[in-house]
Amino acid sequence: MNIPVVENVLKINDQLAALNRRRLGQASICAINLIGAPGCGKTALLEATLRLLSADFRCAVLAGDLATQRDADRLAKYCPRVVQINTGKGCHLEAGHVAQALEQLNLADIDLLFIENVGNLICPVGFDVGQNYKVGIFSTTEGDDKPAKHPYIVMEADLLLLNKIDLLEHVPFDRELFEHDIRRLKPDSRLLALSARTLAGIEPWIEQVRQWKNAAPGKQ
Ligand code: MG
Ligand code: ZN
Repeated sequence: MNIPVVENVLKINDQLAALNRRRLGQASICAINLIGAPGCGKTALLEATLRLLSADFRCAVLAGDLATQRDADRLAKYCPRVVQINTGKGCHLEAGHVAQALEQLNLADIDLLFIENVGNLICPVGFDVGQNYKVGIFSTTEGDDKPAKHPYIVMEADLLLLNKIDLLEHVPFDRELFEHDIRRLKPDSRLLALSARTLAGIEPWIEQVRQWKNAAPGKQ
C-alpha cells in the first residue's frame, strides 16, 4: 500500500505548511520559496537581493542543503537572521523543517523571509512549506531544455527567473526555445532574465519582491 502512505505524508506536510503560513501571516511576513537546480545561483541571487533590500526591509533566510553551512555563511555577511537547515539525505525542504527553523528566529523582527530550497528541480515543487510565493530559477549554464524537462516548476511557480544572462554568449543556449517551452506549458508565465553576479536585469526582480511584501497584510 505505497500510494496511501505517500498521500498521507503529503497531507501531514500540507497541514504543517498551513500552520507555517498562518504563523508567518500573523507576523506579517512575506515568505518566498526559491527552487532551482544545484548551481543555478540561488545563493548568489540571495546575496544580491539582501544587499539591495536590507536597507528597506528586515530580511531573514532559511538555507536548505543536505550538508554544510556554506550558504548560511555566505548569506550571513548580508543578513543577521540566517538559519541553515541540513536535511541529511533529504532532497527537499518540508514544512516541518521550516517550522523548526522558524523557532530560531524572532518573527516580530522580520518583514521578508527567503527560503532557499535544497538544490533540486523536482520534489521541492510538490512540498508546500508555507510560503506565499514560489520562484523557480533556471540558469543559462544548465541548458535551454530545463523547462521542457521539468514542467511542474514552470506550472507551479509564481515567477520564473533565468539567471546568468551574462554568460549567454559563452554557452549554447537557445533563448527562444527556452521561452517557447515555458509559454507552451503556461501561457501566462512570468519570466525575468537577470545576472545575480553582474546585477544586470536585477531591478525588476527587486521591484517584484517589494510588491509582494507590500501586498502582504499589515501587522496583526
Ligand atoms: Mg545554495
Ligand atoms: Zn526530495
